[in-house]
Amino acid sequence: MTTQLSHAAARATADFDHTVERLCGYLRHPAISCDPAHRADIDTLAAVIAADLTKLGLTRSRVLTLDKALPLVAAEWTGAGPDKPTVLIYGHLDLQPVQGEPWTMPPHEPTRKGDRLYARGAADDMGGWVSHLGAIDAWLQETGSLPCNVRLIIESEEEIGSPNLERYMDAYPDAFAADAMILTDCENPSTDLPGLTVSLRGLFELEVKCEALSADGHSGLWGNMVPDVATALVTLLARLVDRDGRLTVARVDVPEGRRAAAARVPISAETIRKGAHLLPGVEPLPERGTSAGEWLWLQPAVTIVCTTLPTRERKKNALRSSASATLSLRLGPGQRAEDVKAAVTALLTSDVPQGVKVSVTQEKPAGEGWYYEPKGPAFEAADRAYLASWGAKMVRVGVGGSIPFVALFGERFGDLPLILNGVMDPESTAHGPDESMHLGVFQKAILANVHLLWELAQPGILR
Ligand SMILES: [Zn+2]
Repeated sequence: MTTQLSHAAARATADFDHTVERLCGYLRHPAISCDPAHRADIDTLAAVIAADLTKLGLTRSRVLTLDKALPLVAAEWTGAGPDKPTVLIYGHLDLQPVQGEPWTMPPHEPTRKGDRLYARGAADDMGGWVSHLGAIDAWLQETGSLPCNVRLIIESEEEIGSPNLERYMDAYPDAFAADAMILTDCENPSTDLPGLTVSLRGLFELEVKCEALSADGHSGLWGNMVPDVATALVTLLARLVDRDGRLTVARVDVPEGRRAAAARVPISAETIRKGAHLLPGVEPLPERGTSAGEWLWLQPAVTIVCTTLPTRERKKNALRSSASATLSLRLGPGQRAEDVKAAVTALLTSDVPQGVKVSVTQEKPAGEGWYYEPKGPAFEAADRAYLASWGAKMVRVGVGGSIPFVALFGERFGDLPLILNGVMDPESTAHGPDESMHLGVFQKAILANVHLLWELAQPGILR
């Protein structure tokens, strides 16, 4: 290890508490993007961050704005010169709301307890990008420079689906120009194993509607001789899943390499139990020869998200005229919504129970899934950086959900190395009560980032 790198690494370690303090300062701003009442908190935090980045030694630190959009903080350091590569670091400053959640501590006043830091945004995503500030600070303080050029983008609309990020990319292309992108809003499979996110599932909705009568009818007068749309609907919906609740149609034939990579990620019953809040006595679904990682990230899944079945308030002794259910369908990465829709429609419209009329409709376009093949010298460089800090290379993981900004970066910059990492672990409960970040993970992330800037700057990696 060269002297400069070892000095920067030592400085990052020595300044760890200072970096935690910086993070705590940001976490005290309730920058909740879905609630217009917190608009001022977003603006204030964006201004604070932009000022801090200048103090850190970054240049052109500014709050970018667009009409009808929340602000975006951008900054850069180009002192390495045009011969060196430029790395873009993306994070988001906005938070999920906390209303109605059973927090046992104040969500916007960080609390250090054991080896974790609790606050909304600690892991998602302030800890993610602040881990890069820790690395940048260490390099600049120790050596007066960074190994490569750096751009920072801190968005404030991620938790509402990044509706204006593409407009920002179009309006400020210079702020996004880079040779590699590090997107820090993802998860590690454990506190000992760093994760590299390589896939997302897609998402779309179908409405299944059963109709039989032009008006509600008396169930005592007509029951047994005319259809009951409610029982017809639940009978139909039961066709969708096997006894484990998994889709009976549209399963993906996952290529062996990806299947094996997913199977290598340890996802214990305990991890699932804690992460998904299983009640005592309720077990995770059996794997049945397919790994948990494959089920979670690579196979489609169905959830019934709402129905028009009679509710307690609307209870009456009547045969209803119609009943519908909205299905939320997760798509395997690369799977086409139209194929899943065709399979589901064929299953639900043949041999229809009670002879009711069945329609299957899609109201909004699908969000496509995404799969990325991480290969080439940038990922070998990242492996070296993570090995130095974590003692382990990054394992390839997927995300079962859909992250619009990742899909967008994949679409716009998919030919560049995209390094998707973060500071979340299975106990972080992002978007839930008592969100927390493991401080050991934070420390390893900062150190990995010190190494990553160095490794990516070496000749032949990006340039
Ligand atoms: Zn996030």
